[in-house]
Amino acid sequence: MTGPGKLPARDFEEIRLAEALERGRCPVCDARQEASYAALRGLAREGATDRGLRDQMDKGLGFCQPHSAGLSKMELLQTSSQLATAVLLDAVLRRRLATMKKHAGKDGSGQVRGIAELSDIRCPVCARMTEASDAAARRLLELSSDGAWSAALGSAEICLEDVYALWAAAAGASKDVQGRWSQILAAQLKRLEALQKTLAEYAHNSTSDRRSLITPEQQAAAAASIRLFGGSPDRDRTR
Ligand SMILES: [Zn+2]
Ligand SMILES: [Zn+2]
Repeated sequence: MTGPGKLPARDFEEIRLAEALERGRCPVCDARQEASYAALRGLAREGATDRGLRDQMDKGLGFCQPHSAGLSKMELLQTSSQLATAVLLDAVLRRRLATMKKHAGKDGSGQVRGIAELSDIRCPVCARMTEASDAAARRLLELSSDGAWSAALGSAEICLEDVYALWAAAAGASKDVQGRWSQILAAQLKRLEALQKTLAEYAHNSTSDRRSLITPEQQAAAAASIRLFGGSPDRDRTR
């Protein structure tokens, strides 16, 4: 099995990682986005009738801000209704209200503890994203034993946060993986150094009197720097 490009892939997970790399996306961001869409799709489809899930909501599971909005959007897109969103948010709100009432009458330190408890959102979609991110990092480090994958990872537009995540995963792995990662990291550092230089030129040319001097390369570096810090999943995904 191979991806659409030249990276050898053994299953759909590897095809997805290969596609992301070949399209100049961050494969770890991409895995996270895929996981969040899958989780939101599942919640939108079954969230209203899933007793187990509502029991978990009653025990303190909730949704973070982006995934509260994301659930509602996904459900509208899939079913043109807001039933699952309303059922789930009602379960969360009921639980939150009970906790807020319980803590409102306490002394200062009790309230601080109560707020800390409330601030621990325990979003199930975020949890799925973390799992997907960890799994993607492990898989990519495994795949780096192949020369083509290792080269692709060295030159890929991996976002900065996921460079750190891969680095941390590699540092805790076997000597073999550590050795492979240090080559990838060296290539990434070269890429980032070149990006930083071109970005500085772009910034230098960005004053109104110099704007006409901006080259396409500098323009591209400016866009790449936003992907470097902002992440670059495949936003066009509709699967
Ligand atoms: Zn990323
Ligand atoms: Zn979340």
